[in-house]
Amino acid sequence: MPATCRVALPLPAPHPYRYRVPPGLADRVTPGARVVVPVRAREMVGIVTALDDEDDEVLKSVLLAPDPAPLVPDPLLALAVWMSRYYATPLGLALRSMLPGPLWGESRLVAEVVDAAAVPGGASAEVFVALERAGGRAAASRLARRVGRPVWDALQRLARVGAIRLDTESPDLGPAAGVERVVVLTRALPSLLEREQAFGRAAKQRAAYEAVDAAGGEVAWPRLRRLGFSGPVMQGLVDRGLARIEERERLRDPFAESVGEPPATPAPEQRDAIAALTALPAGGAALLFGVTGSGKTLVYLEAVREAVQAGRGAIVLVPEIALTPQTIARVRGVFGGAVAVLHSALSDGERADAWRAIAGGERRVVVGARSAVFAPLADLAAIVLDEEHDTSYKNGEAPRYHARRVALARARLQGARVILASATPALETWAARDRLRLVRLPQRVAARPLPPVRLLDLRTVERVTAAGAVPWSRALDSAIEARLGAGDQVLLLLNRRGLAHFLQCAGCGFVWECDQCSIAFTVHRTPARLRCHYCGRERALPSSCEQCGREAQRTRGVGTQQLEAWLAARFPSARLARMDADTTGTKWSHARILDAVRRGEIDVLFGTQMIAKGLDLPNVTLVGVVDADTGLHVPDFRAAERAFQLIAQVAGRAGRGPRGGEVLVQTRTPDHSALQAAARHDVEGFAATELAARVSPPYPPTVDLANLIVSGTREGVVADAAVEVGEWLRRVIEARALPVELLGPAPAPLARIKGRWRWHLLLRSRSRGPLGRLLRYAARRAPYAAAGAVRLVVDRDPVSLL
Ligand code: ADP
Ligand code: ZN
Repeated sequence: MPATCRVALPLPAPHPYRYRVPPGLADRVTPGARVVVPVRAREMVGIVTALDDEDDEVLKSVLLAPDPAPLVPDPLLALAVWMSRYYATPLGLALRSMLPGPLWGESRLVAEVVDAAAVPGGASAEVFVALERAGGRAAASRLARRVGRPVWDALQRLARVGAIRLDTESPDLGPAAGVERVVVLTRALPSLLEREQAFGRAAKQRAAYEAVDAAGGEVAWPRLRRLGFSGPVMQGLVDRGLARIEERERLRDPFAESVGEPPATPAPEQRDAIAALTALPAGGAALLFGVTGSGKTLVYLEAVREAVQAGRGAIVLVPEIALTPQTIARVRGVFGGAVAVLHSALSDGERADAWRAIAGGERRVVVGARSAVFAPLADLAAIVLDEEHDTSYKNGEAPRYHARRVALARARLQGARVILASATPALETWAARDRLRLVRLPQRVAARPLPPVRLLDLRTVERVTAAGAVPWSRALDSAIEARLGAGDQVLLLLNRRGLAHFLQCAGCGFVWECDQCSIAFTVHRTPARLRCHYCGRERALPSSCEQCGREAQRTRGVGTQQLEAWLAARFPSARLARMDADTTGTKWSHARILDAVRRGEIDVLFGTQMIAKGLDLPNVTLVGVVDADTGLHVPDFRAAERAFQLIAQVAGRAGRGPRGGEVLVQTRTPDHSALQAAARHDVEGFAATELAARVSPPYPPTVDLANLIVSGTREGVVADAAVEVGEWLRRVIEARALPVELLGPAPAPLARIKGRWRWHLLLRSRSRGPLGRLLRYAARRAPYAAAGAVRLVVDRDPVSLL
């Protein structure tokens, strides 16, 4: 019997804490189990990570083990350990990011009456009575206050005999989810006769009653409204004592009612791809590399079908933004009721329920965004990452994990297969293709051609001057006019407004770059200088172009609002829709806008990169990229890769229908390799050029990279701390002769976010092991005088260096 255990708590503590295991709990305190333990003056939920036989009397004891079976299966626990090491994060925080919030952390334990007949005598009876007096449901701490002593033992016993249920509930349920009114039937009227007696001539009320009855006895008020029942009709049902109206938290779950879409029959090329994927060995990974519209979804779903039918589990990850009813319908079409959807609009309770249903084996196929990679499937056959290059697979807070790397690690632990699907694989993935099985789908479904991409050189083409600051060529203008005239739809992409100003020559398009780091210099006004945000180097602001001698200009690109104003003036009768961070603030607004496009209610959809991630829009025949340069010169070594992917993806939206389509890209640097390759739909050519460029100066995948971000509210303090950390790192690297290179410190390109000033340090290395050791050491030990006033975040394999 274990005497003590180690418990990971959701605290930034480097090691799990130790507790004694009371003999009565020995069978429940097992690795992966949740326990309630005392932490200073509080009680917290933690996860047992290990057991020890050696007793230690000075330790405090575990108070409670609420679950009959461990909630975190062994492979997930092993995965958490891997994550905590790889990302240099405390194990408790790694576990916290895996488990749904309400099962975890700063939640409180709530007892609820289940069966009074099961109550044993003694002290537990007293606690049970207190619980009943409290209304049948109360927090453990409240019961303890009522009875005037600790209640853990009693609750434990009551839960075991089935008299009560123990649950965790987060004290803060987050922002109030919208409340909606629901009509609930309170009396059943099974026979026709009863109905006739109850309603008499109130035919409308009877129809309303029957509508609610047909929907299972309760229906949201707005839905009844849409069915044509008025407020007074519903009130009539209430007055007759047949229904009541309840206020409920609104479930904005667009998937609840989505039904499956039957899958197509695979074409011969798809069949070959399915066969290749099915033949992957356990633990193996494949890159499903198929052009946009080649039918990858069908392929990866069919490739896991056999395993799922044999009773094993599968996880399908899609970018958050692609988690739409259409996507779910496709998965449900193949796997029906075995599918669980994990999405951000689930309430805390629903998320916890879904997790339990998956852990309990009730659902075997899980579809979700990034964090669904942790779905607790015990017998996992496959993990699919659709659009594997998508940046939303990277977590934005500690641990800053990437779902692709986690999926590969998890697959190794569980003997599962990984399928990475993309038309524009991340360069890291492409560079690793020798270790992956490369499965290609070079053709679109039904052999539809990819649309031609034309580059419009803003330095020389005829411009529409009325557009003012909006770069607007005559060619783009007339193409839009023609498409609108034909009743087609148009997509216009505007890269996110430049976050940093870069310097570009208006005459020749030359952009000033740091030659040590190969990223664009950022323009600073006071003092007027160019600064590299990787290495920190500065130089004087040039007044004329190095290449052509003309005057240099700061460039920032136009915003979506400016574009909107221009479009409204230029095409007054077109129906416009804008999609950017401002218009998609609420959940599902992205899907709603795309739905409106699909239904033909929109003529021109314009916005940021979000529009490139839509689904099939067959009536879109023209895609315009208003200013490709803004994205190309973001101070990030991946700028070219992003720009290429974006154009390739947005081009993938055009011409999916039988009428074909075209793509127009406006730029001042038409010779840029990313644009040239995008114009040829040449993924491999681009990858070859860009991989060669990442050798010197070295960037991933040539090296591994980590970003250390130092932040705080006082600028000077942050800068000093960053310098201190930098000096410390240099000393450690030198003293141990580590094969790691340090760049910086430098102010981050986004120098301030939410009131916090930010500096960063870049570490790069060709050896993963030493880099990992240095990061773990730094996360725990890096000294800075202002500890407390500044925060140090380790971001391994960063996807953004802004
Ligand atoms: P990708 O993810 O490769 O861009 P999708 O999987 O979205 O492509 O498929 C593109 C379109 O082709 C979808 O509308 C899909 O339903 C359709 N499709 C895929 N396979 C077939 C097939 N074998 N027969 C007919 N239509 C198909
Ligand atoms: Zn530099």
